[in-house]
Amino acid sequence: MSPSLYTLIEASLPQDRTRTAIEAPDRSRGPRIWSFNDLLATAARYAALFARLGLARGDRVALQVEKSPEALAVYLACLRGGFVFLPMNMAYRADEVDYLVGNAEPSLVICDPSVETSLKEICTRRGTPHLLTLDWEAGGSFVDAAAGVAEYDEPAACSADDLAAILYTSGTTGKPKGAMLTHGNLAANGVALRDAWRFTEADVLLHALPIFHAHGLFVACHCALLSGAKMIWLRKFDREDVIRELPRATTFMGVPTFYTRLLSGDDFCREPVAHMRLFTSGSAPLLAETFEEFRARTGHAILERYGMTETGMNASNPYDGERRPGTVGFPLPGVELRVMSDEGAPLAAGEVGGLQVRGANVFRGYWRMPEKSAEEFTEDGWFRTGDVAMIDADGYVHLVGRAKDLIISGGFNVYPKEIEELIDDMPEVLESAVVGVPHADFGEAGAAVVVLRHGFLLDEATLIARLKDKVANYKVPKRAFFVESLPRNTMGKVQKNLLRETWRGACEGG
Ligand code: AMP
Repeated sequence: MSPSLYTLIEASLPQDRTRTAIEAPDRSRGPRIWSFNDLLATAARYAALFARLGLARGDRVALQVEKSPEALAVYLACLRGGFVFLPMNMAYRADEVDYLVGNAEPSLVICDPSVETSLKEICTRRGTPHLLTLDWEAGGSFVDAAAGVAEYDEPAACSADDLAAILYTSGTTGKPKGAMLTHGNLAANGVALRDAWRFTEADVLLHALPIFHAHGLFVACHCALLSGAKMIWLRKFDREDVIRELPRATTFMGVPTFYTRLLSGDDFCREPVAHMRLFTSGSAPLLAETFEEFRARTGHAILERYGMTETGMNASNPYDGERRPGTVGFPLPGVELRVMSDEGAPLAAGEVGGLQVRGANVFRGYWRMPEKSAEEFTEDGWFRTGDVAMIDADGYVHLVGRAKDLIISGGFNVYPKEIEELIDDMPEVLESAVVGVPHADFGEAGAAVVVLRHGFLLDEATLIARLKDKVANYKVPKRAFFVESLPRNTMGKVQKNLLRETWRGACEGG
């Protein structure tokens, strides 16, 4: 039986577990330092608390909290005890959280005190047995409850097929789907990345990504935990904090927006990063222009990789060989990629088609959506990524578009359909289309193109303000335009390509 991810992590830590696992700088109180011993002991205590609360293996633990070392320990506690970790973005509004809680039926929700009132209402209505709080400074009823737990249980004997986490990802239908990731999925991908990117216990990873998403939680934390590297743990990306901490780090992982922000001032230059070993980028396309400017300014070639919630990482530019801007490199060891025509035939090098993936990294399906899950797999067991790609004669994978019209704003996915439905629900609106347009800071942002009902009035600011009440800020279009009608093709489909062309310059200034 292959070991659980927890066993694998434990076995990968340095011999000397008094070494620092996490250092969380705090300008007012001085850094919080956790050794590997602290991290493991805290995870054991939390896992024991979950069991005392009556949680059984396979039960979900949902979190809507700020990033903290405690939140990472909750993840490890789930891995240790065989519970299923379910992180939620702090930016989610009550309606979004309500849907996730209703769909995933967690046995325990841990939330930031700022959202406790609304979660209390949701949990009562949905019959969630336990709700506890955790703030980013280690305060809250969850920490208090865990402090009283003295005896730990043995780690659960999880197998590779057991569920480790459910991460929700928005779908084209507008409703988020829970991607079920197993211990085996996460372990396979973590080891592949650690080895491909040469992580060792001598590394210090500057961690500025959120941990409710696969990038910050799995890609970053697994590289560190599976090699025994230290993490400098920033609550969020803050340009000044990152520049201050980089001299003490050896590696950094970012979404493209991090890199454009770092480059936005002259104080970011070669000297503080000369010693760095590796910068990686992913979750959205890194412009060749950003890659070149970063190289010119720092001497480093950013290593771009490609993955998705459902599959973990699929492809990566090489550690040693040539890192080609505008490409996501080669399939990772253990991962197969193929480009297929619409008719389902394999395409040759240089031809553009739908990208499919197969490997131990590929998820088990969407939570409680067997039909939707089956639809996304081919008969011969490949997962349809929804990305449109080309593999060139040298084997480099180029992503050329997204079949599903996804917008990626600052590294976060926005599915236009979800926003269009909210706009269409407004009484003044007849119909709408949301498209991605270039944005100086976020790479891409949503622009809403709206047709009003005859005789009704609505202005841009009101429309945007109403959306801000309903969904996370990053999903809200940055601009809204009012038109007489939407362009459609002969099949009646809205021609989003024309809208993207028309409003291309709408958000260029940021
Ligand atoms: P998520 O599930 O949030 O990780 O989003 C996955 C999607 O992000 C993929 O299907 C791609 O469309 C996109 N993506 C991830 N990495 C890259 C990249 N390096 N370049 C372009 N798109 C990317």
